[in-house]
Amino acid sequence: MSFDSQYVWVVVCKNQKFHKRQNLFFGHKIPLGETDAIMPPPALDDLIHVRCDDCGQEYAYHPKDLVRIELELPDTFAPHPFFLQM
Ligand SMILES: [Zn+2]
Repeated sequence: MSFDSQYVWVVVCKNQKFHKRQNLFFGHKIPLGETDAIMPPPALDDLIHVRCDDCGQEYAYHPKDLVRIELELPDTFAPHPFFLQM
């Protein structure tokens, strides 16, 4: 069993009401695509629409909403379409 974490771009789900009871302080993070410790953020020049993998709601996110965190991706992880183009 390996617990290697990797760097991932995430956004925090805007459906705070839904996720509040799960994670009061940080919100629910939706993984979008893999990265590394030094890669700059992808050049987004428009909002990206992301559907939450937990509550199922879709919201538009600004490029500045992207956050790099260390996360162990689940086997079921599927990158956001935008990150597939890179
Ligand atoms: Zn959500």
